[in-house]
Amino acid sequence: MNEGLEAYRVLEAKQQPQWPDASAVQLASDELASQPPLVFAGEADQLRTRLAAAARGEAFLLQGGDCAETFEAATADKIRDRVKTLLQMAVVLTYGASMPVIKVGRMAGQFAKPRSSDTETRDGVTLPAYRGDLVNGYDFTPEARAVDPNRLTRGYHVSASTLNLIRAFTQGGFADLRQVHEWNKGFVGTPANQRYESLAAEIDRALKFMEACGVDHTALTQTEFYVSHEALLLDYERPLVRIDSRTGLPYGTSGHMLWIGERTRDLNGAHVDLLSRLRNPIGVKLGPTASVDDALRLIDKLDPEREPGRLTFITRMGAGKIRDVLPGLLEGVRDAGAQPLWITDPMHGNGITTETGYKTRRFDDVMDELRGFFEAHREVGTFPGGIHVELTGDDVTECLGGSENIDEETLATRYESLCDPRLNHRQSLELAFQVAEELKK
Ligand code: PEP
Ligand code: MN
Repeated sequence: MNEGLEAYRVLEAKQQPQWPDASAVQLASDELASQPPLVFAGEADQLRTRLAAAARGEAFLLQGGDCAETFEAATADKIRDRVKTLLQMAVVLTYGASMPVIKVGRMAGQFAKPRSSDTETRDGVTLPAYRGDLVNGYDFTPEARAVDPNRLTRGYHVSASTLNLIRAFTQGGFADLRQVHEWNKGFVGTPANQRYESLAAEIDRALKFMEACGVDHTALTQTEFYVSHEALLLDYERPLVRIDSRTGLPYGTSGHMLWIGERTRDLNGAHVDLLSRLRNPIGVKLGPTASVDDALRLIDKLDPEREPGRLTFITRMGAGKIRDVLPGLLEGVRDAGAQPLWITDPMHGNGITTETGYKTRRFDDVMDELRGFFEAHREVGTFPGGIHVELTGDDVTECLGGSENIDEETLATRYESLCDPRLNHRQSLELAFQVAEELKK
C-alpha cells in the first residue's frame, strides 16, 4: 500500500515555491530522507488516543504557538516562554473544566506559510512573497526573498533543537505541577497573572493535601506535550515520511499532528492525498464557505474508517459568521454518523488591517468567535473539543484590546510577527480563563 505515497506528485499542489533548481531540491530531499525521524510513530498513536477522548467529550485540546516560527527566534528563552504560556493555559483549563487537557504546540516545524499572492510590492518594487523560513527570508531584498532549498534541511535541524528543548522542559521537571507558581515568574503582574497566582495557590494547597494523604504524585512530574504544524511544503513533508517498523505503516515524522490549511484542502489536491496515507492524527481547517458535503467528503478521504481521534476539524469562521454557519455543519456531520474532533481557531477568520497598515485582530472578536463556538455546540449537542490559537510567551503588541487595552498606536511598539498577529502572554491567559468559564457552563 505504500506505493501510494508518491501518488500526490501528479496532483495539483497549491502554495508550493518555484524552486530555481530541481537538483538542489533533490539533494535537500535526500538529506532529509537520511536524517532520523523527529517524532516516533508510537507518540503519534498516543496522541491519536488522547484526541479520541476529546472527540468523545472526555478531554480538551489546547493547540497553540506562532503563526510562523522563525529560525532566528528558536532561542531557549522564547521557546521556554511559549511552553510556559501553554502550560499555564492548560492549568487554567484543566482546573476550570476538570478534564484532561491535551497540549499541542504549533511548534518545531511551523515554518511554511500559504500566501494570497506569489509576490509582494513595496514602493514600486516587486519581489517574491515571504513563504516562511523553510522557503525564503523575510527581509525585503532580492537576496533574502530568493527561495533556497537549503532552508529545508536547516528547518529540520531547528525543529530538532526546538523539540529537544521542549522534551527537556516537559520531561525534566520543569513541567512538574508543583512548579505551577514558577511558570508565572518573569511575567509582569497583570490582572490575568494575579488571577493565575491565586489559582496556583489553590492547586498548591490541593497538592500538599494529597501529598499529606500519601497519594503518589509521580504522574504530576512530567507532562505530555506534542508538536504540530501545517503540512504545507511537500518537499519537506514527503522525505520525512517513514514506514513504522512496528506496523509497516507510513507516518509523517516531522511532527505528531499535521494539519491541512484552508487554502490547500482540495479533495483532489496533493495535500489531502499525501496526508490521507499517513497514520498521524490529521487536522483540517474549515472556513466559512465549507459545506456539509465538503466536510463529509474530507471525512471519507481522510478518515474512511471513522477512527476516533484520527480527524480534527479546526473551524475558523469569523466572529460574524460562526453562529450562522457552524450549527448546520455540526448537525450535518453528526447526522451522517461521524464523530470528528471539533476545535475552534478563533484567529484566522478575524483578521483586519489598520489604516497604518498593521495586520491585526481584535481580542473581542476572538472572544466572540470562541463564545459562538461554544454556543453552536450547545445548540446541536456536540462537544466543543478544543482551541487552536496563535500566541507567544512574549509581551508583544500585535492583537488589539485585552485587559491592557492595546490600541492602534500601541501596535507599533512591539509588533514582531512576520505573518499573522499573535496573542501575547497575558491575552493568552485571559483567553484561557474565559474558555474555562465556557467549559463550566
Ligand atoms: C494558519 O494557521 O496560520 C493559517 C494560514 O490558517 P488558515 O489555513 O486557516 O488560513
Ligand atoms: Mn496564521
